[in-house]
Amino acid sequence: DPDQVLARQAARESSARSYARHLPVVPVRAEGMTVYGADGRSYLDCLSGAGSLALGHNHPVAVEAIRKVLDDGAPLHVLDLATPIKDAFTETLLSLLPPGLAGDAKLHFCGPSGADAVEAAIKLARAATGRTGLVAFTGAYHGMTAAALAATGSVAARGVAGVPDAGVTRLPFPQDYRCPYGVGGIAGERIAVEHARRLFDDPGSGMTPPAAMLVEPVQGEGGVIPAPDGWLRALRTLAAEHRVPLIADEVQTGLGRTGELWGVDHAEVVPDMMVLSKAIGGGLPLAVLVYRGEYDVWDEGAHTGTFRGHQLAMAAGTATMRFIVEHSLTERARKLGDRLREDLAEAAAHLPAIGDVRGRGLMIGVDLVDPDVAPDALGARPAAPGLARRVRTEALERGLIVELGGRHGAVLRLLPPLIMTELEAEQVRDLVLASIAAAST
Ligand code: PMP
Repeated sequence: DPDQVLARQAARESSARSYARHLPVVPVRAEGMTVYGADGRSYLDCLSGAGSLALGHNHPVAVEAIRKVLDDGAPLHVLDLATPIKDAFTETLLSLLPPGLAGDAKLHFCGPSGADAVEAAIKLARAATGRTGLVAFTGAYHGMTAAALAATGSVAARGVAGVPDAGVTRLPFPQDYRCPYGVGGIAGERIAVEHARRLFDDPGSGMTPPAAMLVEPVQGEGGVIPAPDGWLRALRTLAAEHRVPLIADEVQTGLGRTGELWGVDHAEVVPDMMVLSKAIGGGLPLAVLVYRGEYDVWDEGAHTGTFRGHQLAMAAGTATMRFIVEHSLTERARKLGDRLREDLAEAAAHLPAIGDVRGRGLMIGVDLVDPDVAPDALGARPAAPGLARRVRTEALERGLIVELGGRHGAVLRLLPPLIMTELEAEQVRDLVLASIAAAST
């Protein structure tokens, strides 16, 4: 009985349980973009394991790759020993990295959460530079371990965990809608560049040279905010001038989701380190830190962990990477995403609760606002978290799984799999709009 399962889990699971609180679904089967609940209902899944299921649920190539490992009797886990499975994963990933990074790139298998790979990147940057500080950005999300959390923007998340953010210098992440510099557009971007530049160049800024600069090419949890290309390029230049490694957190943006293979490709920026997880494990837990050879300064065992590079995850990940390339899913994500965003933005003209529609590829955010409050000088209305929660509930009742993000929890986040069909994309659009309309009345 699904109700009993829900009740027992609700009673026994930690109060920190999250998705399970708002999505009372008991998934028992799943295929592609569809999840089937124990209650006999089916749902279109726009959460996709928080963006980890690039090929959707149980894609045949991932399932086959996992099955082959089992059928071959290959060892499931051998710590960080060399295996043909790991070799295939490494070669495949290296072949896909931005050319400027691939040349002398090194891989560190982390374990196995995105947060651990962020942790590794920060530790490695500190070891390589002999410095400790970090430049990060408002609204950033990098994971829940200590260093990753310190770099995370949410005061609430850091506060609950009691993680000090000492040593982190936080710069505003530029965006048009609710521009942190109060101007938006190219003017806002220019001020953001100038702000970062002065932080580094003005000896009176108070910042000691940091060990690294850590940035998401598109902020996900922060509210689906794409980094302006010119700003990201300026950060790249600044980091190079000051010999500060630029770390791109591609945990969510990596592997085609944004309509380019890597989020940094939109700005043609080559980072010094890239943090990867989610999609690269083909649905299984895997995280990898990629970095330029010059940063290969660690002694043996400097960042270990038992489950680094699990064989099943590497096999599923290799199959997933190859499928994405062979079937041009990156271009697919771009086209489907552009279309979906355009449709939603057009509908916003009749739905005043939609303040902004943004994103890149199939990483889409719908900023929900209070239509009854007058817009500010830049045209933005206040975030409407209560409305957003009602939209999530209305969506679930209509058979659509979506989650919320953003500073105020008022941004509807769509992270459908890259294999979504055009018909499914239209269904998502219609369900999102119907849910917003229903929740607004
Ligand atoms: N970085 C980014 C950009 C993320 O989106 C996430 C997860 N949402 C993380 C890091 C942390 O990954 P994990 O949850 O696997 O620790």
